[in-house]
Amino acid sequence: MSKPEITSKLAKIVGEEHISDDLADMIPYERDDQFPIVVPHRPDYVIQPATTEEIQQIVRIANEYKIPVVPFAAGINRKGLCIATHGGILLDMRRMTHIEIDEEMMIAKIGPGVNFTQLVVALNKYPHLRCLTPDAPATASVLANYMLRGIYPTATRYGIDHLITMEIVLPNGKILDTGSAATPNSPGPYCGIVNGPDLAKLFQANVGTMGVATEGRIRLYPMPEKIEIRMIRFPNFQSMIDPAKQYTLQNLVAGVWVMTFAPLALELFMNTKNITEELFAALVFLEGTREEVAEQKSRVLQIAEAAGGEDMNFPDFMEKEFLLDHRYMRSFIRGWRKGNLWGCSCYGPLKNVTKYYEASKKFCQKNDLDTLHFEALPMHPFHGELTYIDPCVMWDGGKPEEVELVRQLAKDIRASFLDIGIYGFFRAFPGVVNSQELGMYGEIWRKIKQLIDPNNIMNPGKPPLP
Ligand SMILES: Cc1cc2nc3c(=O)[nH]c(=O)nc-3n(C[C@H](O)[C@H](O)[C@H](O)COP(=O)(O)OP(=O)(O)OC[C@H]3O[C@@H](n4cnc5c(N)ncnc54)[C@H](O)[C@@H]3O)c2cc1C
Repeated sequence: MSKPEITSKLAKIVGEEHISDDLADMIPYERDDQFPIVVPHRPDYVIQPATTEEIQQIVRIANEYKIPVVPFAAGINRKGLCIATHGGILLDMRRMTHIEIDEEMMIAKIGPGVNFTQLVVALNKYPHLRCLTPDAPATASVLANYMLRGIYPTATRYGIDHLITMEIVLPNGKILDTGSAATPNSPGPYCGIVNGPDLAKLFQANVGTMGVATEGRIRLYPMPEKIEIRMIRFPNFQSMIDPAKQYTLQNLVAGVWVMTFAPLALELFMNTKNITEELFAALVFLEGTREEVAEQKSRVLQIAEAAGGEDMNFPDFMEKEFLLDHRYMRSFIRGWRKGNLWGCSCYGPLKNVTKYYEASKKFCQKNDLDTLHFEALPMHPFHGELTYIDPCVMWDGGKPEEVELVRQLAKDIRASFLDIGIYGFFRAFPGVVNSQELGMYGEIWRKIKQLIDPNNIMNPGKPPLP
């Protein structure tokens, strides 16, 4: 079938104004912020559905004519996940912004196009409730972020699992509803751990390669009376590790980021020039009633001081900035001042974090990149000392020599982290996760993908590759 014929079939579903195959409309979708290292590619069609039924019809056509479908929620993931590497239909879901809040059950039902700002604004009517937010741009889709399991400044206390059940349109156009949503006469889709395996988990960390999530039911949490943020400076990297472990085990903090900044990274990140040496600092989020926060703060500082740490007493304006970011009063864009931000996120035990940091520093020096910002966050549940690790480098994608350096850095750090030993990589990014290296796990993942999507229409070119 010809391209104009496909366009006209799709237009019958969503209306002429919500579909395009015009080159001018394809160009904005052909690249993301990592375009110097992720090869850009244009979709053939961009379509903006408004309902689950429309998505079912679109996917049926795509399956019949074997046209790739790339789900797109906001397109701000950092490694090419929404690039239509095989062309096809770019499914832009930003019109699907329904939000239903069940105050009593502490649940929200959200469409895939709802971003964090929209949800935070909707929750303003319920001042005792909140959703947990990442340090990401406020335009990130809540469902995409929770599906891919983001990282949140509150993860030391609350973890990263905030999605309960989902409605999913499968590649054959049928609907799968997970958890209690499948139970006849259920009081609501509010429980994922019933009736057998939790199938939401099977779809959760796949990057649009198994189906299209059209609704998510997510956890809401009580809004604390007080949130306070402290930055504690330490003499060296290793001296932060034991305090971070104690804060986590004693449940003293909502989050503790163990961080280091090269001087240039600090300048780019925080806009401050008065620190000329590498900074080792723990960023601590305290939450609770006023009394609880005061008590936590005193314990946290005591533990820090015993390890050589010192409260940085950063100026009021800086604390306000952090709070504004944290509460999503505005978009979070730190670290963008050099143009691009590269990271190699993964999970490992807290006791290995100094080794990951030293390897990151060594390879940044080898590759002449002097903007290392390294961060690690112990997470709930802390069994196995579960810790998120992220070496970040701010760089300029407009300079061809820096592109080559960052490419080499990515290879070096990936190899050295695997040498040290990690639990695994943060997300199924192409070029980072290779299902062929994962033995029987990789084989079964590929077989499940084949079973659910035999024509490989869902976001082809992303893991698990056939
Ligand atoms: C500077 C910066 C800092 C960030 N820091 C953090 C951070 O600290 N913590 C954090 O959690 N996040 C952070 N993020 C964002 C994060 O990386 C996620 O990628 C983001 O939340 C998801 O992006 P998105 O909503 O634009 O989804 P997209 O980029 O549109 O989609 C991401 C992937 O999910 C698939 N997908 C999207 N929606 C659906 C759906 N409904 N059904 C099926 N598949 C779907 C897409 O095909 C794609 O593969 C940061 C991003 C930036 C730019």
